[in-house]
Amino acid sequence: MLNLETQATTTSINPTFLSETTPGAVRDVIDAVENRNSSQIDTTLTRLIEQADDLGLPQGFLAESRRCLASGNWQDFAHSLRSLSFVGEDGHFLIVAPYTTSRKGKQETLLSAIYGSRLSLGEIPALHPIVEDIFGHVNESIPSIVPVIRHSGAGWFAGESGEAFIVPNGWPELPHGDGPVLNNMSEQLGRVAVAFEAIRTIFDEPSANLVLGAYTPQARLMSTLHTEYSFHEAGHASGAGLSQKFASGVLNSPFYGSVEEWRSDGVAFEVARRALPAETVGTLVASNIITRFGIDAHRRGTIHLDTDVNSALLLFNSLLNSGMLKVYPDNSLGFVDPTYKGLSRATEMMSASAIALTRQEMQLPEPRAIWTLYPSTISVPDSVRKLFLQTVVNPCLGFFRELR
Ligand SMILES: [Zn+2]
Repeated sequence: MLNLETQATTTSINPTFLSETTPGAVRDVIDAVENRNSSQIDTTLTRLIEQADDLGLPQGFLAESRRCLASGNWQDFAHSLRSLSFVGEDGHFLIVAPYTTSRKGKQETLLSAIYGSRLSLGEIPALHPIVEDIFGHVNESIPSIVPVIRHSGAGWFAGESGEAFIVPNGWPELPHGDGPVLNNMSEQLGRVAVAFEAIRTIFDEPSANLVLGAYTPQARLMSTLHTEYSFHEAGHASGAGLSQKFASGVLNSPFYGSVEEWRSDGVAFEVARRALPAETVGTLVASNIITRFGIDAHRRGTIHLDTDVNSALLLFNSLLNSGMLKVYPDNSLGFVDPTYKGLSRATEMMSASAIALTRQEMQLPEPRAIWTLYPSTISVPDSVRKLFLQTVVNPCLGFFRELR
């Protein structure tokens, strides 16, 4: 039953299915932001504030945004972001503010706008107490992920901007990241769509159906992705903490970045085991496999240069070590127990190693000691590297032309 459903419906993913037309008054503001014309922004925003109630947008927040734009003081704006009061009752929101991205270590600020809807994809259990239970204490707060659909935007969020995660510390007055992470689901769905063919190529049929079943039907895709990301963030918050690591510059190479990704995944799966039914844990593992093997493994930087490719390699290594992943003579892969419970079990050892590494990391006198801890704890044999290329990377060569 599951197999038939999977085959019937996973072939086409339409990322635009949720997008809706942008009301004229909102469009005018977005155009003004795109034109970088501050008097035009003020006029159009004033007009929008009058119509806000009819359009389901919170009038108070828009008025506040207009004041912040005029004064350059973004304290109130930051507060509204933290308290989620920027979202209207039916989920619509418009944010107009400067947003800072850092790409390749270079920071750039641009007045930006995003008009979208918040999706309700189910409650995430309280993760902080579970992480605390595993490690004794948690250094950082776990950011809450708010799934959204972007309908239109300007600045960094214009057109096909490719911004999948809009992070709180990109906005003014939220330097510590203590605000919501907006997860742009339209972007995520587009990314995931390209992974389906890769997963079918890499795995035997029962395993591919199982893994892709975690994203079928589409409503399940979004809630699974959302849950997986939320647990992954809990993994990052454990140990020395991600912001600590960024601040001290320890994640400065693909190797350290990928170990951090692998560690967060391993911790996340254990947190999930303590919070969710085993079947659901398996769907989160499946979701992770789709991202790591279906997308990350095929990024252009290849195994020597790219953090994401290395993250996929570390997951591959852990799955092989578990004895739950088999390699066929024709270089395709299959799970020994192709059930969601089986997938959960296949990552038990990975979780145990990731938890041990996290505990060691918590004993370090300072974050930079991670530079000696990670290389002495995590290594992937050359033979496994070769096998990863043969089974995951090479069979999908040419599938992805534009993944960076
Ligand atoms: Zn991560």
